Amino acid sequence: MGILNRFASQWVAGEAMGDGLRRAEEANRRGLGAILNLLGEHHKDPTEIDAAVQEYLELLDAIRARNLDASLSIKPTQCGLMLGEEVYWRSTETILDRVRSMGGFLWMDMEGSRFTDATLAVYRRALAVYPEVGVAVQANLRRTEADVASLLEIGGIVRLVKGAYREPPPVGTANRHETDANYRKILDLLFERGDRFAVGSHDSAMIEYAIEKNRTRPRRFEIQMLLGVRDPLKTDLSRRGHRVVEFIPYGPNWLPYFTRRLRERPRNILTMVRSFVSG
Ligand SMILES: Cc1cc2nc3c(=O)[nH]c(=O)nc-3n(C[C@H](O)[C@H](O)[C@H](O)COP(=O)(O)OP(=O)(O)OC[C@H]3O[C@@H](n4cnc5c(N)ncnc54)[C@H](O)[C@@H]3O)c2cc1C
Repeated sequence: MGILNRFASQWVAGEAMGDGLRRAEEANRRGLGAILNLLGEHHKDPTEIDAAVQEYLELLDAIRARNLDASLSIKPTQCGLMLGEEVYWRSTETILDRVRSMGGFLWMDMEGSRFTDATLAVYRRALAVYPEVGVAVQANLRRTEADVASLLEIGGIVRLVKGAYREPPPVGTANRHETDANYRKILDLLFERGDRFAVGSHDSAMIEYAIEKNRTRPRRFEIQMLLGVRDPLKTDLSRRGHRVVEFIPYGPNWLPYFTRRLRERPRNILTMVRSFVSG
């Protein structure tokens, strides 16, 4: 577990809230915004769901007390979606009340495609009571362009990501090439009909595509990247005058997140195996 822990620590701030807050402070010092996320998913036990909500409330208080440039991103199945849309909505509403009282912003993550409809339904409810709320949408799903078009009609704010979950056709795209083409198509739509959104990617091609579009159609967009990935690029983009925000996950339940990051980059698996062998 020691090596696994050490390896995970490049992408995960640590197990405690204080670890996440420290990394958010560091990000702010480097001129980056921060998004904090407590790791954990697929909770079915109401006690676990309540604990996650409680932790987010405390996190918001800490963000306010430290005057951080930071918001939260919550995960649907961490906050009740396994028990139904209504349970997730109640958690979201509780967190959103606190976010609203401090004039903050709330992001909602997107999980596998079986949760998309319910997540978007809760997002729409949230947006109806407070405009400072955004949701992640995934370019590896074929439905996403239509989802974004309909969200833009109600003033929705999206974070466009490629998608971290395996989604075979017909629901998902056939390959990386189709995902990238879809990502660009959705960026076209966002620049055409949107006003404010986030580009959640480490892919220079996608980021530069957005920056190029922004020259002719200036929009309020920010670039969001994960903790521990492409740090020099973050600094470079920030120096070029773009708003860059670091997504900072923390918490003891880091294994599923860690596995998704490893899968994205086979080279990382190789490096980890080498560390195991060499001790
Ligand atoms: C802020 C943020 C929030 C996200 N929220 C969600 C969400 O709610 N739902 C969801 O499904 N997905 C989410 N994701 C993950 C996303 O869907 C992708 O899985 C992930 O970002 C990798 O795709 P990419 O766009 O960076 O492009 P890729 O084509 O995967 O990568 C482009 C380049 O980035 C670098 N890179 C990418 N990943 C790594 C890594 N792990 N380690 C080192 N270098 C790497 C490499 O240089 C690679 O060539 C989020 C991502 C970000 C940045």
